[in-house]
Amino acid sequence: PSITRGATVEIPKVSWDDIGGLKDLKKKLQQAVEWPIKHADAFARLGISPIRGVLLHGPPGCSKTTLAKAAAHAAQASFFSLSGAELYSMYVGEGETLLRNAFQRARLAAPSIIFFDEVDVLAAKRGGSSSSNVTVAERLLSTLLTEMDGLEQAKGILVLAATNRPRAIDAALMRPGRFDLVLYVPPPDLEARHEILLVHTRNMKVSDDVDLRQIAEATELFTGAELEGLCREVGMVALREDISAAVVCNRHFQIVKDSLKPALSNTDID
Ligand code: ATP
Repeated sequence: PSITRGATVEIPKVSWDDIGGLKDLKKKLQQAVEWPIKHADAFARLGISPIRGVLLHGPPGCSKTTLAKAAAHAAQASFFSLSGAELYSMYVGEGETLLRNAFQRARLAAPSIIFFDEVDVLAAKRGGSSSSNVTVAERLLSTLLTEMDGLEQAKGILVLAATNRPRAIDAALMRPGRFDLVLYVPPPDLEARHEILLVHTRNMKVSDDVDLRQIAEATELFTGAELEGLCREVGMVALREDISAAVVCNRHFQIVKDSLKPALSNTDID
């Protein structure tokens, strides 16, 4: 089967500056992902073996995928994206073949980052259920483990994975040499929400009466994805009101903000 189904490859365009907040996390990813690729010589000189896998966990819509892409952009690495759910839903054997192909292609295209979204689907704790589906997940997991172990000799390949359910992940993936670094990607705090609003209004014409700080204060528990949606909707409201509108105003922001409820609640936060 061809790799074109299920895995896409590109050097992403998104940069660290496109992500609001998360300063420390970006720094950690720079050191764990960008450095081993950009400064491979320095690692070799000091005899440091770079980590092979990073697990990002946290609520949906808080930039796990975007962080992985920004890391690939910063390292100018090819980005292979695979979805755990998609692999899982394929015909028996097809998912494993695709997985192996992705690692092979990543080796050829190195430096590369292989990104797994919803990794919990293929790395769910073993022995949890007796249905035949467990076998599918087990086979995918063992393929993934074999491939990750094989990265020992490969240079410039890193595996990044994302999950909303870190507790569901099989302990085998957490052994040394696999996902050595586990990072929590939290929902944005006030400062981060302000920065996210700045990022997503960067290309918009915003009236002077708009106070993004105030909007950030009034959007507690909103995720980055929801704030991005809010900005888009603000533009739509302005246009619906007047198709020749030149700017978006505070009024538009207030209308949209009041119409939205965040999907997260305080109990979703680790
Ligand atoms: P999921 O778990 O649902 O896959 P995720 O954590 O991977 O979500 P992303 O797909 O990276 O989240 O983010 C969704 C959208 O929200 C992206 O288009 C991104 O631009 C925006 N977004 C999320 N967080 C931020 C942020 N901190 N700064 C700027 N944009 C953000």
